Amino acid sequence: MRIGHGYDAHRFTPHRPLVLGGVTIPYERGMLAYSDGDVLIHALCDALLGAAGLGDIGAHFPHTDPSYRNIDSRILLRHVIGLLWESMFSLANADLTVLAETPKLAPYIDEMRERLASDLGLDKGKVNIKATTTEGMGFVGRGEGIAAHAVVLLEEK
Ligand code: MG
Repeated sequence: MRIGHGYDAHRFTPHRPLVLGGVTIPYERGMLAYSDGDVLIHALCDALLGAAGLGDIGAHFPHTDPSYRNIDSRILLRHVIGLLWESMFSLANADLTVLAETPKLAPYIDEMRERLASDLGLDKGKVNIKATTTEGMGFVGRGEGIAAHAVVLLEEK
């Protein structure tokens, strides 16, 4: 078995949609990013690549490549899953945590789980997503941005 951890954070910016876990969430700000800024999927991709010993998301999808501008991060996730299969790994489960002061994410968690489970080829029960605030502390607490952690377990096929 192989374990992987991923972390990502993005700054809020006006005039962009907020996309988290593949779900567009109604809010007055989105994430400043080269891609769609889906911080949860970016953390998940890094956890998957880390567990497989395949580096990180920046190496696979460089900002210097214009084809990744505003890209749907689910496309990146499905590409990463393809790399795992080629490397003879299968995913056992994923446990994800989003840190955000606002907006309230609880109403969207179930849909995020469904979408990510579909991209990962897993049962929804094996993709857990938790949302928390940081009690007003730090950049998340001040409402400057959103951060996410991901932990995954891979099995060698
Ligand atoms: Mg990112």
